[in-house]
Amino acid sequence: MSIKELYNEKSRPSLSLEFFPPKMEAGKRNLLERMERMSALDPLFITVTWGAGGSTAEKTLELAALAQRNLNLPVCMHLTCTNMDRTIIDKALHKCQQAGIRNILALRGDPPVGESWNQNNTQPAEFQHAVDLVKYIKSQYGSYFCIGVAAYPEGHCEGEAEANQQNPLKDLPYLKEKVDAGADFVITQLFYDVDKFLAFERLYVEHISTEVPLIPGLMPVNSFLLFNRAAKLSHASIPKYILDKFPEEIQHDDHAVKSICVRLLADIVDRIYNDTQGRIKCFHFYTLNLEKAVAQIVAESSTLRYILTQAEEEDAENMADQVG
Ligand code: FAD
Repeated sequence: MSIKELYNEKSRPSLSLEFFPPKMEAGKRNLLERMERMSALDPLFITVTWGAGGSTAEKTLELAALAQRNLNLPVCMHLTCTNMDRTIIDKALHKCQQAGIRNILALRGDPPVGESWNQNNTQPAEFQHAVDLVKYIKSQYGSYFCIGVAAYPEGHCEGEAEANQQNPLKDLPYLKEKVDAGADFVITQLFYDVDKFLAFERLYVEHISTEVPLIPGLMPVNSFLLFNRAAKLSHASIPKYILDKFPEEIQHDDHAVKSICVRLLADIVDRIYNDTQGRIKCFHFYTLNLEKAVAQIVAESSTLRYILTQAEEEDAENMADQVG
């Protein structure tokens, strides 16, 4: 089923989960089991990442198809369009259709690490930006695929020159272009500064759409090192009130860091849901293929907690049926 239809049908708040394809066969088996357990969180959909330039093409397609077949959940496959041959895009879209996958997150991708577009501008002229992929999918498949695109609450950062100078206003016309070209939903880059996200959401409602769902991206973290690294890589700022929660003496205590982050993300979910009066009603978790943190956030969030209660009630009913 398409994410757009599911989103519109669902009246209560929900979540979505992102996974990446593991390198090894054993990792894939473990991940599929984990994904199955995590389906108890009743995700609206799950997504599978795509290595820029098609570097994980086979593994991404395999994991996405297995998840679509085994999990009874809508799968959204990420697909980048630059720095790779068009035949890879054609093959990926065809395989998705064969596997019954109805949702694609259409992305531009980045140049290989250490290179810039100028050094390696080998992409065919038809795929310069994500909007070109949105248009291409529409032209080839009509409305078969429900298409998502990326957005950046703090502005997209194009290399070192722009670090710390991002400006969400600069990207807005291009985001609008993606939505006008047929994008059905938007997932954001991860962020920790909820005020910046809320300011971005207001811009989105005013300038982009009130119909196309905006889904905030959140990354649970397991260590202070990862927290800093994730924020740096995605150019997400960390407000002072959040940094103050991690005094030096606990920065090496992963257990303490994890529980502070769980509380932090649960508060972010609740604040966004309440401040937007439920306009934002699906929360996307970059799971890093880890299982527990998202469940803990759901348990601590007054917005999402009902999911667990519901799952427990269903378990209890199933048990009663079996006993009966
Ligand atoms: P675009 O929308 O093309 O935007 C890129 C830049 O170009 C922006 O600065 C924008 O302002 C500018 N721009 C856009 N259109 C135009 C235009 N017409 N003229 C001039 N400038 C323009 N990467 C992966 O490799 N694999 C993944 O699986 C993956 N998943 C992601 C999931 C999410 C939710 C997000 C937010 C990002 C993901 N990325 C992934 C990273 C993404 O590929 C990079 O952030 C990339 O730099 C930009 O991709 P985009 O689709 O936003 O590009």
